[in-house]
Amino acid sequence: MLDRQDILAVCPDIPVLVGEPMRRHTSFAIGGPADLMALPNSPAALAALLTLARRRETPVLLMGNGTNLLVSDRGVRGLVIKTHSGLSGLRRSGECEIVAGCGALLSELASAAARWGLSGLAFAHGIPGTVGGAVYMNAGAYGGEMSHVVRRTSYAGTTGQFGVLTGPAHEFSYRRSFFTGHRGAFALEITLTLTPGDPEAIRAETEALDERRRTSQPLALPSAGSVFKRPPDGHAAPLIEACGLKGARVGGATVSDKHAGFIVNNGGATCDDVRRLIEQIQERVRAETGVQLEPEIGLVGDFGAGGAARGGER
Ligand SMILES: Cc1cc2nc3c(=O)[nH]c(=O)nc-3n(C[C@H](O)[C@H](O)[C@H](O)COP(=O)(O)OP(=O)(O)OC[C@H]3O[C@@H](n4cnc5c(N)ncnc54)[C@H](O)[C@@H]3O)c2cc1C
Repeated sequence: MLDRQDILAVCPDIPVLVGEPMRRHTSFAIGGPADLMALPNSPAALAALLTLARRRETPVLLMGNGTNLLVSDRGVRGLVIKTHSGLSGLRRSGECEIVAGCGALLSELASAAARWGLSGLAFAHGIPGTVGGAVYMNAGAYGGEMSHVVRRTSYAGTTGQFGVLTGPAHEFSYRRSFFTGHRGAFALEITLTLTPGDPEAIRAETEALDERRRTSQPLALPSAGSVFKRPPDGHAAPLIEACGLKGARVGGATVSDKHAGFIVNNGGATCDDVRRLIEQIQERVRAETGVQLEPEIGLVGDFGAGGAARGGER
């Protein structure tokens, strides 16, 4: 198993944290200690970390901004690599392209696009994750999704090779991509193709979508966004609401009164509270409507012997 000195020997100038509480790095504010957490500051440092971990057979959890993760109360064994904010570079390339580091926030990317008069990312401004995390699960909102704008992605593969995906090789579909099918492959740099537009009109569209989000989502409380994927016909939130589950609570975890698709942390919620509430929702919705809800959030970390994660696990 790696230790801090092993990492500093190959990447001397990056932050390496020992026993770092994951709740400080997740939008749910939930999660026990990571054995080791490294924050690379360049693609070369990220590549060196991945190579070192592979050579030393150390498990890696790569995270962006931790906004779609539910982390075990026992924490994460091995190495957590966090890409935000050390890998957040953004640059314009040619007339209509932007090249983004995997750790850049979607809000920063969308704001830069508006400044440069490039349209196509208003949908993404209010999604609190990184570009890499958004490519991973083909994040989307209000009719837009990453598949509409991502053209090319350089990546580190599962066996240590580096490669490039273009167009259909991303295998995008609803909340899926090449990366959900190849766990252990990581997006490094992403090229997006946009269309020319008027900066003021782009800003107005962005503000209108952000306002829709503010009025419909419980943004003041810690959460990981929508807990469940859309079922084949319709949305999860109306089903949950129709089953009378708004306000349902386990420990510090509550089904939001504002948006039944969100579970919020009302203070002191544990991973276990959220998992039990998810199970209660799934059971009730299945019993009353016959629909099996599938988690969208990723359950990660150490669940001990016999404590295997269920649903949405990484
Ligand atoms: C208030 C709120 C609102 C939200 N609204 C939306 C919404 O409208 N639409 C939507 O789609 N999502 C939404 N989300 C969920 C979340 O923001 C997105 O899923 C986002 O794309 C996750 O990015 P992240 O960087 O936080 O990923 P993380 O949570 O850090 O990681 C999620 C998964 O992505 C993987 N990953 C991260 N970076 C990479 C990489 N570079 N290469 C390969 N895999 C990687 C991780 O290993 C992990 O499996 C919302 C969340 C919150 C809290």
